[in-house]
Amino acid sequence: MEGLMMDYPLTTNTILEYGNSVYHHKKIISHLPDGTRHEYRFGDMYKRCKRLANALVHKLGITNGNMVGTFAWNHGPHVELYYAISGIGAVCQTINIRLSSHQIEYIINNSEDKVIFVDATLVPLLEKIAPLLETVEYYILLNAPKDFTTTLPNTLHYEDLLAEQSEDFEWPKLNENDACGMCYTSGTTGLPKGVLYSHRSTFLHASTIISPNAGNFSNSDTVLLIVPQFHVMAWGFPYLCLLSGSNMVLPSSHLQPDSIIKILQEEKVTKANGVPTIWLGVYHAMKMNPPKDKLALEEYLVGGSALPKSLIEGFEKDFGIKGVQAWGMTETSPLGTVSRLQPKHAHLSASEKMDIRAKQGLAFPGVELRIVMEDGTLAPTDGKSMGELHIKGAWTIQAYFKTNNSESFTEDGWFKTGDVCTLDEDGYMEIKDRTKDLIKSGGEWISSVALESALMAHPKIKEAAVIAIPDAKWVEKPLALIVLVNQNDEISDGELIEFLSRDFVNYQIPKNYVYVHEVPKTSVGKFDKKEIRRLFAEGVL
Ligand code: AMP
Repeated sequence: MEGLMMDYPLTTNTILEYGNSVYHHKKIISHLPDGTRHEYRFGDMYKRCKRLANALVHKLGITNGNMVGTFAWNHGPHVELYYAISGIGAVCQTINIRLSSHQIEYIINNSEDKVIFVDATLVPLLEKIAPLLETVEYYILLNAPKDFTTTLPNTLHYEDLLAEQSEDFEWPKLNENDACGMCYTSGTTGLPKGVLYSHRSTFLHASTIISPNAGNFSNSDTVLLIVPQFHVMAWGFPYLCLLSGSNMVLPSSHLQPDSIIKILQEEKVTKANGVPTIWLGVYHAMKMNPPKDKLALEEYLVGGSALPKSLIEGFEKDFGIKGVQAWGMTETSPLGTVSRLQPKHAHLSASEKMDIRAKQGLAFPGVELRIVMEDGTLAPTDGKSMGELHIKGAWTIQAYFKTNNSESFTEDGWFKTGDVCTLDEDGYMEIKDRTKDLIKSGGEWISSVALESALMAHPKIKEAAVIAIPDAKWVEKPLALIVLVNQNDEISDGELIEFLSRDFVNYQIPKNYVYVHEVPKTSVGKFDKKEIRRLFAEGVL
């Protein structure tokens, strides 16, 4: 028997309408790339979304299901794009500005973006590849001065586009299972893969994170969105702020520790998100130059890489600020787990409590986890037995965009994360390692295999193996083991850096090289990364 409740679609339009009707007075504050501060209200943003919707439909010819790209920092107009593009039934496809030109070109052509909204300061990155982009009809300039010049074809200024449109627009009735946003993974050894979020998954993800057991957001909060809007829809924060009535603070390109501290102080931010590298930088800057007044910041939510225990302890002891660890993936919207203590932990010692908080944590309601061991059996929930983490839930991917990656999914409907984890009897998950040998530096993935094949294309190099090594600032960085074709040859680190800079951007290029006679191999002749890591840890390399 069917229930007798309304069929009320969970769409981003319902989030926008709710934010406007209940929290129209709440603020959106942008610290723009040119250093100016802009403040307006959810209600103002709502009206601009309607103008933008008119422009998308009537001026730019965007229709249901079209892809519209954004190549932009975090700021008010980028939030408007999230809502207006998906609001008309198109897909907001956020492009990671930190990828290589080749990857950006691939992503834009693969997703078939019809229009790209680009920040003026990022235009040079697109100018280089514009002739190779097959589907783009217009480039819309964000935050560009009137006299801005570019070689991009068919450009319009964002503010001009909005100025000529009406504030009257009726959102179409959308199906909650339709696509609303898309991000590409950059963590694979091959080309990036598109993850297509639905209205329903976006709504459920955002509304679940608000709860006290999860992200703990309310209409008393002012939230700083450090996670870029081009990375997994900024972890859903532009949506959850409208649902929870939290003021939104957007830092655009001001991501240096000192700039973040200044924004935290000036805007009286109470909650924020970010990868560990950001918070390591902020912590060390605050230690060097402690703020005169205690920050309003109560909690910072960290994910993307493991949150070091020492950082949780340092922030809490020195500044009374709480670090909360979350785990997720592009494929899981991203948030899947979060680690918080419960009343039953009250009697534990400080170090036992810290051990729990340093785990990746409990599944959100709407998410299921299991650990599958190498022999295919389910791992006991003893906090010790390791295996690959599988996940299923209302905001977990079921297939990649235009790609058949059946090996990422099980026949019984689980997504295989590639993370090697444990689950304890209370349901706390802990990441032990990755099945993939990727390097994650400053929150961004670096493919070791791509670096190896590029290095091995050098005429003097016979073998190259790349592993992640710990780094105080970036959490991880790449180290390359090099075997020369001719042992008497000479090659400098500088020569290799220069060689790689043709295909990789600076942060991806290893600065550490070790020259060896042979790379350790497994029994089937593959590079033995585990052994290389062991040799490095023991100081042999
Ligand atoms: P991405 O899709 O780029 O967000 O990367 C997802 C991967 O980041 C996961 O599969 C994990 O390997 C890693 N990751 C995310 N959150 C955490 C965390 N809290 N601790 C350790 N690793 C994490």
